[in-house]
This record gives sequence, C-alpha cells and structure tokens, in this order.
Amino acid sequence: MRVAIISDIHANRQALEAVLEQAGAARCDEVWCLGDIVGYGADPEACVGLIRAHADLCLAGNHDLGVTGALSVEAFSDVARRAAIWTAGVISARTREFLASLAPAGERDPVSLYHGSARDPVWEYVITPQQAELAMAAQEHRISLVGHTHVPVAFQRRDGERAVGGARREGEQLELGLGRWLLNPGSVGQPRDGDPRAAWLELDADRWTASFRRVGYDVSGAARAIRAAGLPEALAERLHAGQ
Ligand code: ZN
Repeated sequence: MRVAIISDIHANRQALEAVLEQAGAARCDEVWCLGDIVGYGADPEACVGLIRAHADLCLAGNHDLGVTGALSVEAFSDVARRAAIWTAGVISARTREFLASLAPAGERDPVSLYHGSARDPVWEYVITPQQAELAMAAQEHRISLVGHTHVPVAFQRRDGERAVGGARREGEQLELGLGRWLLNPGSVGQPRDGDPRAAWLELDADRWTASFRRVGYDVSGAARAIRAAGLPEALAERLHAGQ
C-alpha cells in the first residue's frame, strides 16, 4: 500500500489540489493528514471538504484546535490569532464539527502519528537530532510521522546509537527497514524551507520506503485569495518565499 502523507495545509486550496493530483498520479492508495488543515490561508471550507473526501486518517493541529475553541488562541502569534478568528467566522457548522472531531495523535501500527510529537502532540516542534531522539524514545511505534514545523525532515535512531538526520530535499528516498524513525513531510500550504512548492511524503507501507515529494502550484492565486479575504499581507508574501 502506498500512502500520501500530508500536513499543514493551512487553508491553501491551490496547494492541496496540486498535491492530491500528484498523489493520485503516483497511485497512492490512501491519504493521511497530520493536521493544521485551516489557519493562515483563505479557503478553509474548501480544504476541509477536500480532506473529508480524500483523507483516510486525519489529525487535529494547533490551528484547527484554535479555530474550534478547543485551544485558546491567546498563545498564538498575532497573525495566527487574527487568521484563526477570521476562519472561525467563515466556516460552516459542518466544517467546525468535523474539525472538533479530530485528535492530535493517531496510529496505524507500526506507525504513530502526531501533529507535533509523541511528547506533546499539539505543540512540540521537532527540529534538532536531540529533540528527535527524545520524541522517538516516547513514540509508541517504530516509525512516527509528525508535522507542525513546516520543514521536511527525517531522523533515524538505531539501537544504542544517537539519533541522526535533518532536513530533506525533493527526491530523497529512505529505507525504513531498520531502527526507529521520525519523519516530517513538510507543509502543503505554507512551506518554510525556502522552497515555495507544496511538500508531501510518499510512504510505501509494503517495502517500507519513503520519498520526499514537491509540486508547484498557483502560489499567486493563493496569495490573491489571502489579500481578497482581508487577511494579513505577510501571509500572502511568505508563500512566494517559501518561508
Ligand atoms: Zn502548521
């Protein structure tokens, strides 16, 4: 079975459509989403609709929880808080109910899924090998998939050794047969590694390999929609820079 791992869509419909099309062309059998469907971008209703139609498994991210009110937006940055309040005002009751039904952690043995990490499924950013080592020690299964940082990474830890790994580029392929792993597909709708293209991860759950994928999308269209919605200008600009 091939699975498209996606995360941090952030209401970017143009990016999500491009990723779902590429995942379909790659003959992925399932789609697993690691959370933050909404927040920042201008198309939360359409993105939740696409996720409901296509995702076989979906987690809640901190932005989804902020929009439903399950999490206080007081801890959010000013821009994130403004976007969450705007989103809460435009989504339908059905979309709100769907977001409220999601949890920030899940599993598909031998894979654990968290929006942040096993130690803190909502908030922890796993960036360094040290953080990855602690997160891997806490994860339930051998392989974990996390989102939240918007940067594609992979870390591995073999028995008795330190965790190794870091950022990953398009086309890198990993053999996941040995040791513990922590993988982040990067962000569909707001990449922050300097590459503006939408990021996702193709997981082969028969051969246990993973490939980092990127796909170009209509960045200008997504940025225009953010401006038309009256959301902060910085949210439109950062899409062009991939930051
Ligand atoms: Zn996010």
